[in-house]
Amino acid sequence: MKISQDAALVAHMTKWRRHLHAHPETAFEEVATSDYVRDLLESFGLQVHQGIAKTGVVATLTNGDGPAIALRADMDALDMVEHTNVPHRSTHDGKMHGCGHDGHMAMLLGAAKYLSENRHFNGTVHFVFQPAEENEGGGRVMVEEGLFDKFPAQAVFGMHNWPELPAGVMATKPGPLMAACDTIEIKITGQGCHGAMPHLGRDPVVIASELILALQTISSRIVNPQDAVVVSVTQINAGHTWNVIPEDVVLRGTVRSFRPEVRETLQSSIKRIVKGVCEAHGASFDLTYNAGYPATVNDPEQTEVCARAAIKTVGEDKVDLNPVSSMGAEDFAYMLEAKPGCYVWLGTGGTPGGCLLHNPGFDFNDGVLHIGTSYWINLVEEILGSDR
Ligand SMILES: [Zn+2]
Ligand SMILES: [Zn+2]
Repeated sequence: MKISQDAALVAHMTKWRRHLHAHPETAFEEVATSDYVRDLLESFGLQVHQGIAKTGVVATLTNGDGPAIALRADMDALDMVEHTNVPHRSTHDGKMHGCGHDGHMAMLLGAAKYLSENRHFNGTVHFVFQPAEENEGGGRVMVEEGLFDKFPAQAVFGMHNWPELPAGVMATKPGPLMAACDTIEIKITGQGCHGAMPHLGRDPVVIASELILALQTISSRIVNPQDAVVVSVTQINAGHTWNVIPEDVVLRGTVRSFRPEVRETLQSSIKRIVKGVCEAHGASFDLTYNAGYPATVNDPEQTEVCARAAIKTVGEDKVDLNPVSSMGAEDFAYMLEAKPGCYVWLGTGGTPGGCLLHNPGFDFNDGVLHIGTSYWINLVEEILGSDR
C-alpha cells in the first residue's frame, strides 16, 4: 500500500501535523495534544481510552478475531525556543516540537484513519500515543500502568524520523538500535583554602581534573573496543572566584552503552575509579549513578517483518538493514522490554545546522508523512493481512 496518491489524506495529515507543531506541550502536560488526538481518533470511529500515564491515549481498531499488535507514537515536545519562520511555528513560549513527534502523531493518525476505512486485516490494532518520551520515560509509565494488560498485543512497533538519512530511506536492524542512557553525579569534597597556599587545603579541582581523565580510560582500556560506549562528563561546577580553592566540586555526565553486561562494567568501573582517585588524594566523595532508559533492542523475528513492510513501502534499494546504531536513547525501549517488536528510522533528509533533531531550526519534513503512514499500513497488512 502506498498512500502518496491519496491527496486528501496527505492534506489532512499535513494539517494535523502543523496544528500540533504550533501547539507543543512537554512531558505529561500534553493535555490539549491528548484531546486533539482523541477527537480525531473518535471521529474515525475507533474506541479511545485516555488517561494512561496521565496524558496517554490508546485507540483500538478491531476487525475479526485475529491477533493484536500495538503501534506507538510519542506526543511530547521539548523545552526549547523555536527559531523557524514557518507559519505554523510554536505559539507556546519556550516549547517546541524539535524532535518531530508532531510528525509521528500525524503519521499514526493517518494510518488509523486509513485502516478504519480500509479494513484489509484480520485482528486488532492498538494505536498508542505516549507522553513524555524526552527524559521523563512516559513509555515506562505506560507499561507500569498496565498498557499491555489493558491492551494485550503480541508485538509492539515504533518509528522515529531520522534527519541523518535521506528522505524516504528507512533503516532498522535486529538487536540494539539505540543505546542505554544513564547519568552520573559525583560530588568531590576536599578542603578549601587560599588560592596561593594550596598546601594548606585539599584541592578538589585538581582531583576532579584527574578523575575526568581517569574516567576516559573506561572506553579506551576497560571495555572491549568492539563494544561502543560513551562516558562523558558534561558539567563541572566549582568555585566562585580566582583566589579561593573551593571546598567541593560537582561533576555530572552521561553514560551510554548497548549491552547489559557492558552497562554493568561501566557502573562498577566508574565506582572504582571515583573511589580510587578520591581516596588517593584524601578527598571524600558522593557518587550517584542513575540508571535511565535501557537500550532499544529489536527482536530479530519482528525486525524481519518490519523490513518486509519497509521494502514494500519504499523499495529494497531504499531500506538500510544494517545502519550504525545511535548512542542516543529512546524510551520505546521499555515497551520492547515488555513485548517483542521493532523500532525503525524514517529518513527525512535534514541538513546540518537546519533540520537536525533538537535543533531550534527543526521542522518535520511533511514530504515523508505519506511514507510513514504507508509503512504503518503495510506493517498491519503484513502481520494481520487477510488478503495476502
Ligand atoms: Zn528527542
Ligand atoms: Zn524524539
